[in-house]
Formats: sequence, structure tokens, C-alpha cells
Amino acid sequence: MAFVITRLCRDCVDQSCVSVCPVDCILEFRGQDSQAELPDQLYINPDECIDCGICEPECPWEAIYEAEEVPEAFKDDIALNARTVERPDDFFVPEVVEKIAPSAEQVRANQKKWGLIE
Ligand code: SF4
Repeated sequence: MAFVITRLCRDCVDQSCVSVCPVDCILEFRGQDSQAELPDQLYINPDECIDCGICEPECPWEAIYEAEEVPEAFKDDIALNARTVERPDDFFVPEVVEKIAPSAEQVRANQKKWGLIE
């Protein structure tokens, strides 16, 4: 099973995970208007992920989970990650740009925003 990037990544797109992935399977959507159903976040190609787990602790937003451990509230995100297999031409490996890590308060606020915690 692969790792999954959940909606906790949205509108951040920190690329710390991209810089450590040994097989370059963490991808960004090209964002064409006609395919705007895919939100602005990073995605893992489940067919290429070798399940090494290196990316999971790198995400400052705690957005990455093993597929079996994705919280119920984020289950739909598994299918969104699978779009990278269905439509490979719509995704690319982003250039890594250093970003400022969020505070613990920001991480908790993001989890609350997406319904992970109350
Ligand atoms: Fe890449 Fe390993 Fe994370 Fe899979 S688990 S996305 S191979 S770093």
C-alpha cells in the first residue's frame, strides 16, 4: 500500500516531502481550468510509491498517512491521489522551494478547519 497526501496539505504545498522522496512520486497538479476539481495540494502516485515512509515525518502540516491509516474524514483523498495514475500527463514533480514551517498552533487550526479535531 502507498502513502497518501490528505487535504491537510491544501493551499500550502510545502515541498519538504518532495525533496526526500527517492522515486519522485510526489506530484503537483497542472491546474488546468477544465480540471479544477483537483484542489491545490500535492499528491502521491500510489503505483510508484515504494512505501518507504520517508516523506511522512517531513510534512510540517502532518498531512501524510499510510493508506490504511487515513482518517475517516479524509478517505476521499485516497481517490484524489489515484488520479495521478489515471491522468499522469496532468501532474509533474514540482521544483522544491523552501517555505517557512507552520507553528504548532497553525497545524492544530488546520486540523480543526478540515474536521480532524474539534
Ligand atoms: Fe515517496 Fe517514500 Fe513517501 Fe512513497 S513513502 S511518497 S516513495 S517518500
